[in-house]
Amino acid sequence: MGNRDSSYVRIDGSFGEGGGQILRTAISLSTHLRVPVEIVNIRKNRKYPGLMPQHLTAVKACQAICNGKVEGAEINSERLFFRPNKAKAGKYSFNVAEHKRSAGSATLVFQTVLLPLLFVRGESHITIQGGTHVPWSPPASYIRQVFLPVLERLGCQTFFKIKRWGWYPEGGGEIYCHIKSLPKLTPYQFHQRGKLKRIYGLSVASNIGNNVANRQMKAALKALRNLKLRGDIQIKDVAAAGKGTILFLTAEFERVRAGFSTLGERGIPAEKVAHRTVEDLNNFLGKSVCLDNYLADQLIPYIALCGERVEMNVSRITTHLLTNLWVVKKFLPIDYELKGPHDLPGTLVIKPAEIPKPEEAKAPGAE
Ligand code: ATP
Repeated sequence: MGNRDSSYVRIDGSFGEGGGQILRTAISLSTHLRVPVEIVNIRKNRKYPGLMPQHLTAVKACQAICNGKVEGAEINSERLFFRPNKAKAGKYSFNVAEHKRSAGSATLVFQTVLLPLLFVRGESHITIQGGTHVPWSPPASYIRQVFLPVLERLGCQTFFKIKRWGWYPEGGGEIYCHIKSLPKLTPYQFHQRGKLKRIYGLSVASNIGNNVANRQMKAALKALRNLKLRGDIQIKDVAAAGKGTILFLTAEFERVRAGFSTLGERGIPAEKVAHRTVEDLNNFLGKSVCLDNYLADQLIPYIALCGERVEMNVSRITTHLLTNLWVVKKFLPIDYELKGPHDLPGTLVIKPAEIPKPEEAKAPGAE
């Protein structure tokens, strides 16, 4: 692709976790900062490396919002060059299954375009079709109950709706989000979570008999009672293309929220789904930490853009967290201090240096 003289960031997609998150964080920041990026060895540590439908949709979504130029945007591609233009607010619609049947995660595509769209002038309306509650990705309920309400503390204003549920392997769900633009993020400290205010959740099933959603709810409430905790769990029977079930619990604290979920699987009784979810929640309550391990990695780009020292007390130092930090550091001049062993609770302090303005950004990792 044409002129490569200007600065661009080079990313080795096999670093650390070596999964799709490297690609999504890179193109998201590339679009926001208007810095071209080349990513090689995409998803090298995965069984089927290269771009899968979800990743390709995320690339095409960023390309659409900024009218960018891209090389290597094909299924299975292990190399991509992305040259963004100015991102624009608007009404956009993306479909993970556009080229190939897929239940790829709509929420991961959403997270990729959310960051750049938050900072452009004007309001955006985003609709994404794909899996809404599928393995290895944030359930849409997590986006709605945890991720976006926590981002609201940093000043982000959004309205998010699950319009149709999509389970693995059929997919076919749909999420919608109204995004208001934001001049600047408000720094927020994640050192303490504050007091637990309430626990609530959803037990949802589609096209599954045996009263599964009801059994999950009852078993979860009983497990919570055994721990001397109270919860409020709604049951929902939702229409969807395929079969699926999930128990999702939110723990709302004074300063933050955390989310815990288990997707049902053939052969796993509803009661086990409930016990696993409550056990995860109880493990979190037992540690004096602020961020659940998923939220910790997902917030890294936003915290790095805050422009101030932010302390994060995390429930687990994951490879996803460390890898996302590494990607962000390629785009933004941040420093960080990490205390704690891998896979255990720890503290991360991010100290971003000056934030480059999108138009004149010259990334530190640029060549
Ligand atoms: P892969 O390359 O493995 O196919 P991927 O594109 O699905 O990867 P990953 O790199 O594994 O992406 O990133 C998955 C993201 O989903 C991470 O940000 C992780 O925090 C988030 N995530 C996974 N499971 C959950 C969950 N149960 N709740 C909330 N977030 C989750």
